[in-house]
Amino acid sequence: MKVLVINCGSSSLKYQLIDSETEQVQAKGLCERIGIDGRLVYQPAGGEKETVEAAMPTHTEAIQMVLDILVNEKTGVLKSLDEVDAIGHRVLHGGHKLTKSVKIDDEALQIIDECCDLGPLHNPANLMGIRACMQLMPGKPNVAVFDTAFHQTMPAKAYMYGIPYEYYEKYHIRKYGFHGTSHSFVSKEAIKFLGLDPDNSKVIVAHLGNGSSVSAVQNSKCVDTSMGLTPLEGLIMGTRSGDLDPAVLEYIARKEGKDIFELLTMLNKKSGVYGMTKGLSSDFRDLGEAAANGNELAANAIDAFCYRVAKYIGSYVAAMNGVDAIAFTGGIGENGLEEREKIVSYLGYLGITLDEEANKQRGKNFVISTPDSKVTVAIIPTNEELMIARETVALV
Ligand code: ADP
Repeated sequence: MKVLVINCGSSSLKYQLIDSETEQVQAKGLCERIGIDGRLVYQPAGGEKETVEAAMPTHTEAIQMVLDILVNEKTGVLKSLDEVDAIGHRVLHGGHKLTKSVKIDDEALQIIDECCDLGPLHNPANLMGIRACMQLMPGKPNVAVFDTAFHQTMPAKAYMYGIPYEYYEKYHIRKYGFHGTSHSFVSKEAIKFLGLDPDNSKVIVAHLGNGSSVSAVQNSKCVDTSMGLTPLEGLIMGTRSGDLDPAVLEYIARKEGKDIFELLTMLNKKSGVYGMTKGLSSDFRDLGEAAANGNELAANAIDAFCYRVAKYIGSYVAAMNGVDAIAFTGGIGENGLEEREKIVSYLGYLGITLDEEANKQRGKNFVISTPDSKVTVAIIPTNEELMIARETVALV
């Protein structure tokens, strides 16, 4: 089977065409800076990487460009879109109704739609991706794979909030956690790559991208994670605030006459490093450049981001009473040398020393701590697409 995997982020879209028999990628790439300017990267297996600059106001135009390039006469890997057997979609939030992967029908679409308020940055983008595929490839099966699934093993002490129990009973308000497909893949890959025992190991995964989260994985099962009911909780992110005193909302509401919806939009879309730098950028590449050129706000935002990642890592060492390995993944985790260096600089108390030469690596499984470090730190590139393809085949 040929499975087209679509992973729509807030401002990016990753795609892979995977042959499920061989698990080989036939073509892959990404659309970056959707809604900003737009850039498509396309790489057929064994071929040259192509980059096309083109306007991509929404995810629909981005998917149309992906489909066009997959069948283009010169470098396309398909003769026609008929060769695609199924489409697997990463979907952020399935709420309490969709806790496993599902073949998409009207009911599933409606539930994913209902969950947009829980995942306001991603569920709408995921839905756009699903609808665009349904429209552009009618009749093909579409499967949704949820970010929340891997975290279902968390114990109640990790997922319950300190609020009246009636809200859990009435509305299932609890920590769900996100990036589950990535945390699942990366923790398993780290265990394999580092030769750890799947049934007796403690791994912390730091998935750092536009959205960022940390998870604690004990004996291959998630025991805690930084995101919550929605992806807003936890780390400072590209445009999301992460943890803050809830009373901040009431204070700003009173001072500025804002309602709760405006405030949540502010926390999801105008905060994080973007908000902290007065809207300079949510992209760490831009911030790194600005900081290097003396922009103090950018330097402070990067510092605050790294500091919070280090604090979460510390809290998960406590949660598991130890740690064997820390894995960095996601756009920043895999590529952000300076961010990794800053985060690891807080972890000396764990007996970790960064190997500066090794830390120059990007985008491949690589140990970046020195051999005498007591805890191994590694780059483990995520592969959510492969996990999604496997789930899709299982359901179609
Ligand atoms: P998403 O959450 O949208 O899937 P990604 O995991 O693709 O995000 O991460 C995107 C982010 O990765 C970008 O916004 C950028 O901040 C960061 N990034 C990518 N390359 C680099 C780099 N070389 N250095 C620092 N940050 C990087």
